Amino acid sequence: MAALKCPRCDSENIMPNLTVVDRVETMHDDYLAIEIDRKPDALVFKGSHRELLRANVCGECGNVDFTVDNPKELWETYSQRENS
Ligand SMILES: [Zn+2]
Repeated sequence: MAALKCPRCDSENIMPNLTVVDRVETMHDDYLAIEIDRKPDALVFKGSHRELLRANVCGECGNVDFTVDNPKELWETYSQRENS
């Protein structure tokens, strides 16, 4: 696997696949995610698909790149949305 490089400063001090935490002050930390509803207008059973947000962080300049693990599944839900 090729070493990751920062797109901003070319540093190779990249910390890959870090999780992004929300509500750190509570007992129940939550990881940030991307969510797409297949049926946004439904009251229940919206057919939501969630992908955990992963961050590649540069240890040199602080640049952050977000990725998701299963972009194709997310795209599938996105392309099947109703009333969009
Ligand atoms: Zn950098």
